[in-house]
Amino acid sequence: MIVAEAVTYEYPSVRALTDVSFSVEAGAIVALIGPNGAGKTTLLRCLAALERPYSGHITIDGVSTEADPRGVHRKIGYLSDFFGVYEDLTVRQCLHYAAMAGGVETGAVKAAISRTAERVELADRLETVAGTLSRGLRQRLGIGQAMIHGPSTLLLDEPASGLDPEARHSLSQLLKGLSQEGTTLMVSSHILSELEDYATEVIFIREGRLVQHGPVGGADVETVRVRLDLSEPSDQLVQSLEAMAEITVDEAGPSSAIIRMPADPEVRQSVLQRLISEGLAVSGFAVEKERLQESYLSFVENLDEGKP
Ligand code: ATP
Repeated sequence: MIVAEAVTYEYPSVRALTDVSFSVEAGAIVALIGPNGAGKTTLLRCLAALERPYSGHITIDGVSTEADPRGVHRKIGYLSDFFGVYEDLTVRQCLHYAAMAGGVETGAVKAAISRTAERVELADRLETVAGTLSRGLRQRLGIGQAMIHGPSTLLLDEPASGLDPEARHSLSQLLKGLSQEGTTLMVSSHILSELEDYATEVIFIREGRLVQHGPVGGADVETVRVRLDLSEPSDQLVQSLEAMAEITVDEAGPSSAIIRMPADPEVRQSVLQRLISEGLAVSGFAVEKERLQESYLSFVENLDEGKP
């Protein structure tokens, strides 16, 4: 659905993207993450056919951003990080305008407004003047404006910013629902715990380069993370773990540890057996789902240390 090939983008004084390539299947929810200034907004703007890459190619649902930017605009919905709303218009009028601009047939506009207002939970605010909406409600209106024409791809730059926990939860539900209906979503955010809730894949970018693209929670599907607990603390635990060549110790103390090992269950069984045979009172040995936040931080740390 989204294909980027060797995309490089330069502002007059700075190169913001270098050789970024990836492809995303329909229905995926891609979390776009990276530190401030990594190039996330620039990438989303290139995908939305609002910026033209210096080199490389992008297609959205088979349409080239370079050859047919207007065609791309019909296929996508884009919410920018700092978007404006028409302050003096009501929510209904804003949605009406967005529907017309997005190419919704005149006869279908009314139904599109009701459907969209329902989905972004603004149905009871249709007559409210947009300029008086709270930050969170404004954000929902922005999302509504971006999706009212039924785009096959939604590009959302920091959609959760300013939303309260309940509204964030309903945003996750909305995004999951859209993806189940086949919409492809790319969402940038700094709130990793939340992206983890709904994203199916993650793209890490840093200093304008794509450094990783993979499934959420399975940034490294070959390795599992295991939490180990002892019912009786033992100073021998750290030593025993460090002596095992097939595992990596993330954290270890006398009564618990976090270790990594190959995903093969036989390795787990043999590690557990050895710990027990060494007399350690193992009370817990559970595979943990790697949190996006942790995998992000350990990934960035490894990059900084020059590890692969
Ligand atoms: P953030 O998480 O802070 O929103 P980002 O990952 O979205 O950051 P971009 O906004 O894409 O990053 O910026 C990428 C790089 O391009 C940064 O070095 C930024 O300073 C630079 N940049 C962004 N917009 C412009 C511009 N209009 N003119 C010149 N440089 C720009």
